Amino acid sequence: MPLKLFSEEKSSGAKHVIAIAAGKGGVGKSSVTVNLARALSRLGLTVGVMDTDIYGPSIRKMLPEDQLPQQKGNILIPAVSDGIKMISMAYFRKEHEAAAIRAPIANGIITQFIKSVEWGPLDFLLIDFPPGTGDVQLTLSQQANLSGAIMVTTPQEVAVMDVRKAMNLFEQVKVPFLGIIENMSYFQAPNSQERHYLFGKGGGERLARDYGVPFLGSIPIDPKICQCGDSGQSLFADGDMSPGAADFLKVANNVVSHAAAMKKASQDVLKEFELVWKQL
Ligand code: ADP
Repeated sequence: MPLKLFSEEKSSGAKHVIAIAAGKGGVGKSSVTVNLARALSRLGLTVGVMDTDIYGPSIRKMLPEDQLPQQKGNILIPAVSDGIKMISMAYFRKEHEAAAIRAPIANGIITQFIKSVEWGPLDFLLIDFPPGTGDVQLTLSQQANLSGAIMVTTPQEVAVMDVRKAMNLFEQVKVPFLGIIENMSYFQAPNSQERHYLFGKGGGERLARDYGVPFLGSIPIDPKICQCGDSGQSLFADGDMSPGAADFLKVANNVVSHAAAMKKASQDVLKEFELVWKQL
């Protein structure tokens, strides 16, 4: 079967394939993936989301489909939700079934996902990584032809500590970092100027500084993010934007500019390599 998914030369491919990863569960990685996808789509870009959490896929709930995925021979056509293309393990298991899948099988499923989904042309493909640093993460990092990784953390030291481990995995497989997003940075009550730093302060920015990678922005604790996630509604649906929605748009703009810069840098390296190669 042709590997159509990630090759930009072919008509079906993504300009930027971005892993969204975290060290541990519960930091809001899936919420960040979905809202970043919605924000990028609001900026007029074409976006796909691949939910690779075999054990607890939650993206389908947050991005309920208008159109189900289809299978055409060996090819999977992704579902569509609010103009965003999406594929999730949730389509291939019963809803409340516990997934007792051993690592080699999980790897096989992920590889199948990578090979079989025909996305069509995309500006961004966001791959929601399972949390941690296991076999599936390694397979994905090696096979998904990633342009870069976005790390999601809360400001809390234990979350930051786990993100460092996940960052080591990407470093080992030579995936560059697009940047860090800090989620649940603070809470600010409506009509108050005071910010409450419930999980500590500045962990994401410190991490970005330590690794010399861009800090893409922080997202506050916003009840609307939680409500929209549970109901599958868009955070950007009303004209009146919540603080979380406004910050997701800022983060999306940063992602667009850093992704373009990263692509240019990698093309420059390739050109230089070609030059040296030709000189030999
Ligand atoms: P993960 O994918 O890291 O396990 P989720 O995206 O499932 O985390 O988020 C965990 C919970 O926290 C969910 O109930 C989600 O709605 C909520 N949540 C995530 N980010 C925020 C935020 N910025 N403000 C309020 N609730 C949030």
